[in-house]
Amino acid sequence: MSKVVLITGGSRGIGRAISVLAARQGWSVGVNYREDVHAADEVVQAIAGTGGRAVALKGDVAVEADVVGMFEAATRALGPLSGVVANAGVVAPAARLADMSAERMRRVFEINVLGAYLTAREAARRMSESMGGAGGSIVLISSAAARLGSPNLYVDYAGSKGAIDTLTRGLSKELGPEGVRVNAIRPGLIETGIHASGGEPDRARSLGRATPLGRPGTPEEVAEAAVWLLSDTASYVTGGILDVTGGR
Ligand code: NAP
Repeated sequence: MSKVVLITGGSRGIGRAISVLAARQGWSVGVNYREDVHAADEVVQAIAGTGGRAVALKGDVAVEADVVGMFEAATRALGPLSGVVANAGVVAPAARLADMSAERMRRVFEINVLGAYLTAREAARRMSESMGGAGGSIVLISSAAARLGSPNLYVDYAGSKGAIDTLTRGLSKELGPEGVRVNAIRPGLIETGIHASGGEPDRARSLGRATPLGRPGTPEEVAEAAVWLLSDTASYVTGGILDVTGGR
């Protein structure tokens, strides 16, 4: 029987690439999305078209009942989980902290921080050996912003990703004895729709040229790292935070 992975925000961008690559490597995939059902259905069909197994799972990671519901639905449809990727995340338009509304900051922290913590909590409850699980791997999607700070752009987003790095360190120690590995990836400038949602569609392309590798990254390049961390070939890797940034 194939292993089962749930990927939050698995319908577009980096999450989509992780869904497709994981399926190609034999995982059954729960593809979570928040609102774009067409994108989610397209990934599920693309996976089915190559002989893989996937289901679309609607839910907002910032809403506890949705997170619990998507884990239950994934388990019902595909079987017990042994992989979880907390990937769903958002940015808001560039601004200085002095100009940020509480509403904007609350949304960024609720989706990026609370959403990842709830996702990781549900993963811990289901995969921990002392709770009847069979162990597994959790991959959290942080950002290079966590160490750069993103001044004059989105210090709220950068801080939300700093929380992901800290969660990775703490949770890996908590869950090591439970048979669950926990790692994070810090992508750099990756070509996805997230930049347009932050009001700068060309951001990855234009700033990517200034990285040591001289270009932005692709979602597929991040997916390679994520699917490796999910897999048993990373069996002695936990608490790691892997930069996929072209050297940025
Ligand atoms: P993206 O292209 O904008 O895709 C975002 C995905 O997350 C979509 O599938 C979206 O689903 C889903 N999503 C958004 N809010 C959600 C919520 N509240 N609940 C559930 N799903 C939600 O983003 P991306 O660039 O692939 O980014 C993926 C992750 O990588 C994020 O955590 C981001 O911070 C991180 N990252 C990206 C970059 C980059 O340069 N792209 C760099 C560093 C880190 P719907 O379409 O249904 O809303």
